[in-house]
Amino acid sequence: MNCLQAPVSKILTWSCVDGPGNRMVLFLQGCNFDCAMCHNPHTIGQCNDCGDCIPVCPTSALSMMGGKIHFDPEFCTNCDDCLNACPINANPMAQTHGVEDILALLHENRTFLSGITVSGGEATMHLAFIRALFTAIGDDEKLCHLTRFIDSNGHLGTAGWRSVMDVTDGVMVDIKAFDAKLHMRLTRRANARSIASARLLHEAGKLYELRYLMIPGHTDSDTEIDALIAFAKSLDSPVRIRLNGFRTHGVRDEAALWPALERETLVATAARLEQANLGPVSIPAL
Ligand code: SF4
Ligand code: SF4
Repeated sequence: MNCLQAPVSKILTWSCVDGPGNRMVLFLQGCNFDCAMCHNPHTIGQCNDCGDCIPVCPTSALSMMGGKIHFDPEFCTNCDDCLNACPINANPMAQTHGVEDILALLHENRTFLSGITVSGGEATMHLAFIRALFTAIGDDEKLCHLTRFIDSNGHLGTAGWRSVMDVTDGVMVDIKAFDAKLHMRLTRRANARSIASARLLHEAGKLYELRYLMIPGHTDSDTEIDALIAFAKSLDSPVRIRLNGFRTHGVRDEAALWPALERETLVATAARLEQANLGPVSIPAL
C-alpha cells in the first residue's frame, strides 16, 4: 500500500454528526488505542491475512488469494460473523481505496456535501494518505469548497499534526479521560499526547470540537468533569465541547456489562459546563 491508498472499513456518503453540515465520512481501518468502550472494535486491528475468518462466512464471501484475504461484496449478507471470529479485531471486509477513488466519490456527491471527515479506527495512522487526499481536494476546482476534517483520539505527535495542518480545516479530538491512570486503564495508552494535541490544535485555530464520553462509574465522576472544565478554561479562547453518553451497542467483553449513561446526567453535565461559562456545549439529539 502506498501513501495514496488506505484501508477503509466503511464509507458514509453523508452524515450530519461528524462535523459541520452534511459530510462524507471515511472510516479508516486500524487504531493505536484499544479502548474497552469502543463501539466499533473491528476497526482496531490491521488484518494479517491469517484466514481464521474464512470458514465462518456462511456465504463464501471470503477466500484466500495469493496469500491475502479476498472479500467479495456480492456474496456478503452483512451477518458480521467474520468480525466476531477475528482474533485481532480486524475486518476482512475493509477495502483498500486510493485518493482517486475518494475524489471520484466526492465528485458524484459534491452537490449535497459540505465537506469530508476522515475518521477511524484512528485516522491519523494513515497520515500520508490524509495529506495526499486533502491536498488533492484543495487543488480540485470543483471540490475545493469542501471542508476537510479529521476525527482523532489525539495520540498523534506535534510533528504529525504540523504535517497536515495546512490542508486540514478542522479536527475533532476525543479525550477519553483526564486522569492518567484511568485513561491507561480504558485505552491502554497514556493521555498526555491527546491533551497536548487538543491544546496545539486549539492554538492553531484547528480544534473544531473537544469530545468527551461519559461512562457511568468510570468517566462521569466530579473529578473528571472538573478536569474537563479546568482544561477548557486553560485554553486561550472558548472551545466547542461535545458530551456523549456511553451506550453498550457494539462494545466487547466486560464493557458490554457496563450500564448506559442516563440522559438526565448528560443534560445536567452540559448545564454544569455552561454554568462554568464554557461552550458551546452539545449533546446528541434523542
Ligand atoms: S459479514 Fe459478509 S463476509 Fe463477513 S461472515 Fe458475514 S457474509 Fe461473510
Ligand atoms: S480479518 Fe482477522 S481473521 Fe480474517 S484474515 Fe484478517 S486477521 Fe485473520
